[in-house]
Amino acid sequence: MRQLFPLLFVVLLLVGIQEAQAQPTPMTITSTYQEDADQLIEAALDDSAAFERLAYLADTFGARFSGTENLERAIEWILTEMEADGLDNVHGEEVMVPQWVRGEESLTMLEPQPNNDMQILGLGGSIGTPEEGITAEVLVVSSFEDLEARKEEAPGKIVLYNVPFTSYGRTVEYRTNGANEAAAVGAVASLVRSVGPASLYTPHTGVMRYAEGVRQIPHAAVTVEDAMMMQRMQDRGQTIRVRLYMEAEMLPDVPSHNVVAEVVGSEQPEEVVVLGGHIDSWDVGQGAMDDAGGCVAAWEAVRLLKELGLQPRRTVRVVMWTNEENGLRGGNAYRDAHMDELDDHVLAMESDSGVFKPNGFGFTGSPEAYAIVQEIGKLLERIESGTITKGGGGADIGPIMREGVPGMGLSVDGSKYFWYHHTNADTMDKLDPHEFNLAVATMAVMAYVVADLPEKLPRATEESSN
Ligand SMILES: [Zn+2]
Repeated sequence: MRQLFPLLFVVLLLVGIQEAQAQPTPMTITSTYQEDADQLIEAALDDSAAFERLAYLADTFGARFSGTENLERAIEWILTEMEADGLDNVHGEEVMVPQWVRGEESLTMLEPQPNNDMQILGLGGSIGTPEEGITAEVLVVSSFEDLEARKEEAPGKIVLYNVPFTSYGRTVEYRTNGANEAAAVGAVASLVRSVGPASLYTPHTGVMRYAEGVRQIPHAAVTVEDAMMMQRMQDRGQTIRVRLYMEAEMLPDVPSHNVVAEVVGSEQPEEVVVLGGHIDSWDVGQGAMDDAGGCVAAWEAVRLLKELGLQPRRTVRVVMWTNEENGLRGGNAYRDAHMDELDDHVLAMESDSGVFKPNGFGFTGSPEAYAIVQEIGKLLERIESGTITKGGGGADIGPIMREGVPGMGLSVDGSKYFWYHHTNADTMDKLDPHEFNLAVATMAVMAYVVADLPEKLPRATEESSN
């Protein structure tokens, strides 16, 4: 169809955008691309090989934490498979990544419930305890304000933030900054109620950071159940004494790799639509939904173009960024390595919100581009994944978005993601093959059409005049 692309399209589209931004652009995107989109959707939904490939990756290599052999073995396997798929320019791009090692860790209650071994997960970046551990009373607080109000009680204690999940963005503050605030009022360690809305006694790990100039203290997550129990104990006036033991330490940086593969464009190969996820995970579970699923869905979207012979005008590039979880080194290294190509990056797309039923994309870019991607969304209405909302992107594409590249993140049903996020329960059995295939179809159609449009997706007026 696109060989017969009518010149009228361009004219209508430009007129439509300039004169009636609020109105839908003419129907030409849908009429031009419906057949190709349907072909991609049907091929994606008909497939089980990609989901099986995802399961193989998750089961064979397991958690893919930065600095581990698991991660590098997974990356090598993916590169080999991408070659076998016949993708273009398959290669790894070296990135130095941090190597935080968890080691053994434990939290034992001494009173009021002696010898109660509680499940914990040390938070990424935390220091360990001395060899004998830290034995201290626990002070439970409900917020930073509550800690401030009770700061006289804090010296020498282990502060526990018992903060119920509201949104990830709000609650995660206690995981990232909790140690700094606790250290500032004299605590010897800090604990955080796991960041999740529901729990079956599952601690959640994640990254934490030490502020400059603040004394560093160990920081770990307890389960929702234990946080609530210790709250009840404190409320009834019981003294809570625990021993925290953590071997965590930061070792020197080691090399890892961003995975890159392409379907090279037929007319403007230097112009690129990039899509992907992050190949690293935390050191627990399988990182199946965070973010092996996003990576393999993007990979499959690109592989389908190859298989169906749908070569767009521009290059479509799948990237699996490394070290998103505890460093973002992959996303930053990609920006640095491709800095002089970023003007030709037409769109960056990321899937990193779990593998659940997709409903569309969140988009960050010019109003003109927003109107166009909304129009492309109509091609996805038949699988209910064509809703484009304003604002969106992803951690790994953040660095290139800040250089002006339009970005979008796959939006999915988020109701269960934080049940599993950064836990031992992020495993393949939680994923639904049909929902995964819908993600493949959604990314494939959007990436393909943006890469094939007669005109580059317009950036904000100031930048496009540069
Ligand atoms: Zn992720």
